[in-house]
Amino acid sequence: MKVPFADLRALHTPLKADLMAVFERVLENNSFVLGPEVQKFETAFASFVGVQHCVAVNSGTAALQLALEALGIGEGDEVITVANTFFATAEAVSAVGATPVFVDVDPIYYNMDSKLVERAVTSKTRAVIPVHLYGQTADMDPILEIAKKHNLYIIEDACQAHGAEYKGRKAGSMGIMGCFSFYPGKNLGALGEGGAIVCNDPTLNQKLRMLREHGSLKKYEHSFPAYNYRLEGLQGGFLAVKLPTLERDNERRREAAKIYAELLADSDVVTPAVLPGAKPVFHLYIIKSEDRDALKHYLNEQGVETGLHYPIPLHLQEAYAGLGYKKGDFPVSESLSEQILSLPMFPTITREQIEYVCSAVLEFAKCQTARV
Ligand SMILES: *Cc1c(COP(=O)(O)O)cnc(C)c1O
Repeated sequence: MKVPFADLRALHTPLKADLMAVFERVLENNSFVLGPEVQKFETAFASFVGVQHCVAVNSGTAALQLALEALGIGEGDEVITVANTFFATAEAVSAVGATPVFVDVDPIYYNMDSKLVERAVTSKTRAVIPVHLYGQTADMDPILEIAKKHNLYIIEDACQAHGAEYKGRKAGSMGIMGCFSFYPGKNLGALGEGGAIVCNDPTLNQKLRMLREHGSLKKYEHSFPAYNYRLEGLQGGFLAVKLPTLERDNERRREAAKIYAELLADSDVVTPAVLPGAKPVFHLYIIKSEDRDALKHYLNEQGVETGLHYPIPLHLQEAYAGLGYKKGDFPVSESLSEQILSLPMFPTITREQIEYVCSAVLEFAKCQTARV
């Protein structure tokens, strides 16, 4: 058997007629950039997250950059985020000229360790970006409390957490702004690049709309130099077709995670822990293994495609060598980078496929024991 890491075709085939209809409409009415398809999606996604405003842009990275920029964060400012995340989280901080300050993640849920945030606050700190990695929210209450105490903004990186919840609140709705990516493989993915910022503040909403389009609200009038980070009309239309299936697909991911957890309960790998009060959406299904590289190799030989999220923590990336971090600074992120393995996870994964993956994981452990 072959088990792919993800299967986008299976997700899109049942929606093909509706997706083709978007293409026909956009071809007819020439709304290639922003326009009614994007507006319709913005309204629907804001309502899905439970916020007032959604500003669609052309990537999750652009969303993070504009969120920082809308708050006036730039040169000389510090923004606290985690070492265990996708590069773009910190890259957006660098893009506005601010300095990313890393903290470690906690060893159980692999998200921002709130106990370490306060120690990283300096007089230059302006914002904190908690990342809801792998589809599970960070423990937001203590982070929000620290932010309030020190007068810091919270920008949520919800790029892997569309629909995830924390104590009944949706990912993206808890900070001053929430940032999403609609890269094709995300829980809600476009058929190309896409992203969005959500917020409740009308002034920020307006600022974000100007930032994504040349500092302009009215054609030919530019209030400040900005960017072209507009979402394409086609992508807005595709996303509006896919959004109504997101909750069902997240539920399928949770069911798949449940089967994984049951079948791997007696194995020597560590399965993901669910934060009390959180409802994860399992963008990725992460296990921890002492012998990760060999296990990955073995699974690959058995036809099981896996991933690494992420093999190099951000403080050890060449791009951030200038910040002065060294190996040993963030022990949890570093040990995760050596032990985590992402197993196949997608809404249409079958019980048989999960059983096959798990029996290969268990078989690997048996081979190892026999060797010792
Ligand atoms: C995907 C992702 C991003 C960036 O989104 P793009 O749309 O690829 O620019 C940022 N942060 C996290 C955690 C992500 O997973």
